[in-house]
Amino acid sequence: MDELYNQFCITGVTATVLHMMGLPVPAETEVPIAPITEKWKNKTADRAFLYNPDAVALWLYQKYTNLFTPVIANTQTALPLLSVMPSVTPVCFASMYTGLLPVQHGIRKYEKPVLQVKTLFDYLIANGKRPAIVSTSNDSISRIFLEREMDYFIYDSIEEVNEKAMQLIQEDNYDVIVVYNGNFDSRMHKTGPESEDALRELADNAARFAQFADAIKQHWPQHNTFCGFMPDHGCHAIDGDCGSHGLDMAEDMNIVHFYGFNEKQ
Ligand SMILES: [Zn+2]
Repeated sequence: MDELYNQFCITGVTATVLHMMGLPVPAETEVPIAPITEKWKNKTADRAFLYNPDAVALWLYQKYTNLFTPVIANTQTALPLLSVMPSVTPVCFASMYTGLLPVQHGIRKYEKPVLQVKTLFDYLIANGKRPAIVSTSNDSISRIFLEREMDYFIYDSIEEVNEKAMQLIQEDNYDVIVVYNGNFDSRMHKTGPESEDALRELADNAARFAQFADAIKQHWPQHNTFCGFMPDHGCHAIDGDCGSHGLDMAEDMNIVHFYGFNEKQ
């Protein structure tokens, strides 16, 4: 049997977020992901909180489901998604946040140029929304979406990123907050995706997301919030007890996103 690949591609994420926020969906992007827009078809979010842990494969969710309990508890659906090739970070986040395939957005290998095509952030800004990116220095998300009229909070450590994200939730000055955590990816490259150290980082991603979800419930009771736990690509073990990704194989291409909708109180 051929490898089993998930049906919906991460290129559908941009239009899904726009649709969930009641904003026009551009003709040039992939269409919104129907199971998500159908699920909340009578709802419109005025806030979105998009958490991007790096390299969380679908198979990790299948094999280590217990580690995802904090995510499951704070969302309403788990959605299998297909990443894009090559399944490396800048290519995949570019596809997620442009709604375009690599051949269309132009990042086709591991490089981090500023995207010259429209992104989710451009569409949000054009519709009067205020997005913010909170991420670590030199990582893909910190670089390929630069040069937009928006705020970027770039730090050396993930701890600072998560502290700032928590502060932004409390202050409630942005309509859309994107947070990047690359700790699982960095660890799994060194020790393998199923090493104790890597799985600890995966559990940390799940716990962080739950903390953000709690803070959103506490500080954004006046908002309808669309929340996502949204990795870029998967990963697989390689020789030498290391981990990798970038190939056209199910372990690298199949990921899982979790989405939730918090209604205003
Ligand atoms: Zn990545």
